[in-house]
Amino acid sequence: MNYIVLDLEWNQGGEDAERQPVFEIVEIGAVKLNEQMEQTDEFHGLIRPQIYHKMHRVTGELIQLDMEMLKEGETFVEVMERFLAWCGDACGDVSAGSACEQFIFCTWGTQDLTELQRNMKYYGMEPLSGGPIPYLDVQKLFSIAYEDRKIRRNLEYAVDYLHIAKDVPFHRAFSDAYYTGKILAQCKDPKVLRNVSYDVYYPPVRREDEIKVQFDTYCKYISRQFADREEAFRDREVVSAKCDICHCNIRKKIKWFSGNGKQYYCLAYCEKHGYLKGKIRVRKTDDDKVYVVKTTKFITEEQAGEIQRRREHVSQMRKKHRSGR
Ligand SMILES: [Zn+2]
Repeated sequence: MNYIVLDLEWNQGGEDAERQPVFEIVEIGAVKLNEQMEQTDEFHGLIRPQIYHKMHRVTGELIQLDMEMLKEGETFVEVMERFLAWCGDACGDVSAGSACEQFIFCTWGTQDLTELQRNMKYYGMEPLSGGPIPYLDVQKLFSIAYEDRKIRRNLEYAVDYLHIAKDVPFHRAFSDAYYTGKILAQCKDPKVLRNVSYDVYYPPVRREDEIKVQFDTYCKYISRQFADREEAFRDREVVSAKCDICHCNIRKKIKWFSGNGKQYYCLAYCEKHGYLKGKIRVRKTDDDKVYVVKTTKFITEEQAGEIQRRREHVSQMRKKHRSGR
């Protein structure tokens, strides 16, 4: 399997930011790494803008590209067709589920594959895959390998931390992909690489395509798409709490509740394995459907008490709100 390490530069609208997509991709850079994570190939593509014809002030300062340079580029569709052919045969095959078998995309952070697919949709291109795309978020892997698993550093921080030679300037798509590849090569402990992410620009459509993965410290479930939140919460799989070890449905001590309507929590208890915390985030798609990402993990009795207190706090706020105070 190859690793396709990808980086994009994009421009955004100023006064006409209403136009879709908000971010117009103007450059694609990538490196291909083999199984041993040695670089075997590289890709550059400069894109002639078709949506925004002025460089946004902030973007222009950041990415060292100007409109004159971009006018030399190819169209987005031309660059993408070249890019997908370069990635390998698997990704040219757009039938659901079969894409990306021979390589895995790798990016710094969580945004690139979403913006890539949003731009592809804008130009009427076939989707990369019929559903979520597994990828390696190297920013996250760096945190797991070298820091606390949570903190997100910028690319240059990680480059300095790992004493990687800074031989090309930052903030061009190719150089950022190149550095991301170098960082990835230093995160190749299989325990680290197990932490695959999913880009959910296209959520699963069918129940059987829903995603369930077990990581070292938690489990993740990505539901199919629903018309709205109410429909999602009527689904038994969505609202279930399963023990991460015995995988059976377990009793909820505290049913799903939310303080802000975005994140929901529950507390469940397995007779054999103890307290389990469930968290649901409700996400919207570009066409106003919803899907949920649910994570479950074991927690201590004290942490269970913390959820209990949060639940009580939410009830009190509701009461106050209802009585008009
Ligand atoms: Zn259990």
